[in-house]
Amino acid sequence: MARYLEAKCRLCRREGEKLYLKGNKCYTDKCAMERRPYAPGMHGQMRRSKVSDYGMQLREKQKVKRIYGLQEKQFRKYFEKADRMPGVTGLNLLQLIESRLDNVVFRMGLASSRSEARQLVRHKLVKVNGRKVNIPSFLVPVGARIELVDAAKEHLRVNAAVENAATRGTAEWLDVDLPSKQGVYRALPTRDQLDPNIREQLIVELYSK
Ligand code: SF4
Repeated sequence: MARYLEAKCRLCRREGEKLYLKGNKCYTDKCAMERRPYAPGMHGQMRRSKVSDYGMQLREKQKVKRIYGLQEKQFRKYFEKADRMPGVTGLNLLQLIESRLDNVVFRMGLASSRSEARQLVRHKLVKVNGRKVNIPSFLVPVGARIELVDAAKEHLRVNAAVENAATRGTAEWLDVDLPSKQGVYRALPTRDQLDPNIREQLIVELYSK
């Protein structure tokens, strides 16, 4: 399936919550969820009828896929891998997708959105343990050092992202040195460090049917 190319804000409006897909704009009053917090389309403002259990599970899966910019096939593979791992499947799933290189670059504050981070990776501007890696889905091992190549360190967009990250902070499970645009993936995130609005158990229930 082709990547969803319509305005990203429609995805937030569809899910009824801010998914933070557009970088800095998401923190301003230009955010579409601040101005039109209802589903897009003709019937967007009508009261929604009661959602079934299946409907809730489906929406939760769609929401998480959209937050991380994943397609169904990829997401399903992460679930299957998470299910085979020891421990709690839902947390395994979140930790797996959090370990993707594009996500780690975003969490480090080197890009203002995951899609911007993905571009940095695809353009060979990111190094893992000293080697360029251009695969956004590359799973970063704990302990790995992530940095930008020198040519990317002065990119305007990178500097803008770093400036915002300096104000908002970076993920607790990463050791980040923003001025030098590098950091270490110190540990897997624990559940309480991740978004409390994600109900991963619903996704587990959906895929376990
Ligand atoms: Fe979602 Fe960001 Fe658009 Fe707001 S600005 S609707 S949070 S993508």
